[in-house]
Amino acid sequence: MRRPIIAANWKLHKDRGEARAFVSDLLPRIEGFDGVDVVIAPPAPLLDCVGGALAGSAVALAAQNVYPEPSGAFTGEVSAPMLVELGCRYTIVGHSERRALFGESDAFIAAKAAALIEHGIRPIVCVGETLEERDAGRTLAVLETQIGGSLAAIPRDRAREIVVAYEPVWAIGTGRTATPETAQEAHAFLRAQLAARFGDDAGAAIQIQYGGSVKPDNTAELMGQPDIDGALVGGASLEAESFARIVRYAV
Ligand code: PEP
Repeated sequence: MRRPIIAANWKLHKDRGEARAFVSDLLPRIEGFDGVDVVIAPPAPLLDCVGGALAGSAVALAAQNVYPEPSGAFTGEVSAPMLVELGCRYTIVGHSERRALFGESDAFIAAKAAALIEHGIRPIVCVGETLEERDAGRTLAVLETQIGGSLAAIPRDRAREIVVAYEPVWAIGTGRTATPETAQEAHAFLRAQLAARFGDDAGAAIQIQYGGSVKPDNTAELMGQPDIDGALVGGASLEAESFARIVRYAV
């Protein structure tokens, strides 16, 4: 039985005051509710502040990015050991914004994911096709390449520590959500890929989130699909009220 996992990706939003206010608003709204794993990924400079505000709660801290090397001459980067010190339990890698805007390759993402696993942080590995790729009938081929390349350095015996996020690029920040059936088709395909790579048991155990214009009123329908195990939420995670409603989608 896979436990649902709902994660907030704040991207490049919020200052310290807003972050603290969000956490104080969120925690009472989800208090006593332990039906899902809840994760918040603030911008890197807010990790200490949000981590402190979350202390004692069940909500996990996540980073939005990491550099594969533990230390060295890599100006501007943040390493997995640094994220461990900050209390991060998850880190997003391979988000489509990083693939598109920063030219990140599957090989680079694979190195990041492996570094995270080595340091005990669970990578949330994002994959997803563009609208052009979908219209060209290449969705499954793109997903196969991305998932295979991005997970190439994950040891088989650590596969259950990863989380996969299927995020069709055409649904991110557009208000255009994949239908539950369209998302399920991609999730089932990804699960088959995971099973082929890591074995049936690991394939059945790995949580696969959907991301792309998830809102309080479409979460339950998406989560009702057999291979959708959670949500990676951008815009609707910026307000505590809407994020709490997504977390409590089943209540
Ligand atoms: C995201 O960026 O991961 C995302 C899914 O954004 P949104 O929810 O705003 O579409």
